[in-house]
Amino acid sequence: MADDVINSNVSRAIGRDAQRNNIAAAKVIADIVKTTLGPKGMDKMLVDNSGNITVTNDGVTILEEMEIDHPAAKMMVEIAKTQETEVGDGTTTVALLAGKLLENAETLLDRRIHPTVIVKGYNLAMEKSLEILEEIALPLSSREIMKQIAMTAMTGKGAESDKELLASLIVSASEEVGFGGFVDKEDIKIEKMKGEKISQSELIKGFVFEKERANIEMPSKVVEARILLIDFPIELKSPEAETKIEISSPEQLEGFMASEERYIKELVEEIVNSGANVVFCQKGIDDVAQYYLAKEGVMAFRRVQKSDMEKIAKAVSGKIVSNIRDIELGLGSAELVEEVKVGDNSYTYVRGCKNPRAVTLLLRAGSSHVLDEVERAVKDGLGDVITAFRYGKAVPGGGAVEIELAKRLRTFAKGISGREQLAVEEFAKSLESIPETLAENAGLDAVDIVAQLKKVHESGVSNAGLNLFTDKIEDTFASGIIEPLKVKTQAISSATELANMILRIDDVLISKPKQIKENKFEGLD
Ligand code: ADP
Ligand code: MG
Repeated sequence: MADDVINSNVSRAIGRDAQRNNIAAAKVIADIVKTTLGPKGMDKMLVDNSGNITVTNDGVTILEEMEIDHPAAKMMVEIAKTQETEVGDGTTTVALLAGKLLENAETLLDRRIHPTVIVKGYNLAMEKSLEILEEIALPLSSREIMKQIAMTAMTGKGAESDKELLASLIVSASEEVGFGGFVDKEDIKIEKMKGEKISQSELIKGFVFEKERANIEMPSKVVEARILLIDFPIELKSPEAETKIEISSPEQLEGFMASEERYIKELVEEIVNSGANVVFCQKGIDDVAQYYLAKEGVMAFRRVQKSDMEKIAKAVSGKIVSNIRDIELGLGSAELVEEVKVGDNSYTYVRGCKNPRAVTLLLRAGSSHVLDEVERAVKDGLGDVITAFRYGKAVPGGGAVEIELAKRLRTFAKGISGREQLAVEEFAKSLESIPETLAENAGLDAVDIVAQLKKVHESGVSNAGLNLFTDKIEDTFASGIIEPLKVKTQAISSATELANMILRIDDVLISKPKQIKENKFEGLD
């Protein structure tokens, strides 16, 4: 009967089939990213249709680059992306956790426990976890801890040797533009420059971009820059826009040219009189204007992108002015504006801005592949530091927090009378997959490590985790393996939500794309 109702272009999976199929798909995704978890995780090489290569260890990058079709698998990719945008880190963790929750739910389904019971149990466990996490989280008491958070996030991500420096740049950048605990990611621009070593990366209290001055006669370096930002052109008015003028003699033409030139000259005079010695112009600057500006020793840039104009304005505390009468109101300042040649490209630095509201993290590395991976690492570190600034609490890493949660959840489960108890226990077990995977990826005996960790936690050391620098079980908070609390709470709640959503589905209907009726090339091969 149903088959008569449903269009034949729709494929359908019902009940247990649908469920098993979705769970299997989610597990596949979890398995793919699993081996990248932690500092000893492996990298993946991704090659797209056009042969572009990405080598990465970053969960969300891997998932984004893979072309995934299965709907449940796509939902996994979605939560990883949400994790990335919400907290900037923990993408592998969230995918892994969701996969584990589903895998462990399967054993309950096998025991004929109804999905709604599992969903209820998982929800109870999730809420309890958030409560416990609040309780055991530690305050962010120092800059050092912030740095350690950035370093933990960057561990194993292709920036290993220089992560101390990068962490310090990240924290300084956040401190520079942060206000009342809130740091807007947009105010920290990441600029990549090929050539040199990673250790040459720096924080610019200002702005860097690939751009050269409008004219080579202009100074390439201005100290104590007074910066003017304008969004109107410094050009002769375009002839088409003018009302037609009749020119019948050479004198008239000369007179006309002279008046136009005078206009430009006056414009430049006003700019110079305002005190500006550097000009960023969103529109064009014509030859005549360039000549006068150069003559006055003004360094000028033309056709600067709007988004760059806005960032420069924030960095130098200037205003973008649209009217020549307002120029004096808008001047910003910087200690130095300088054009520098790097390889074949010209870059302009705006340095030493006072209280900049936007800064630039300038990343350097020898090749663009390394540069890209360093950028991803820095973005993770930055994400964690911004999150930590915002939510203000941290937890010990290396699986410490997961083991402690699992322990307390098992105690909590004992107080639950229904079959939900079993789901809470499976939830606890799922959390243990994090330290288990960290150990496994480092080639250690995972079963043994988890057993040891549980024992140490039973004895009351709640910060005990696996330190993969030393392969020892110790207080990971004290060893500086630290993560923002919010990364964990976000991962746990969205992994649970996704697992529950998939468990509730008992019917999957997929419309096939409409087939093109006639294939012109049929039979050609
Ligand atoms: P995610 O995408 O989930 O952030 P990562 O590959 O960044 O995945 O790994 C994060 C995990 O690695 C966290 O559980 C963190 O505690 C752990 N970790 C980071 N540094 C260390 C370390 N030195 N020793 C042990 N575990 C670590
Ligand atoms: Mg990470």
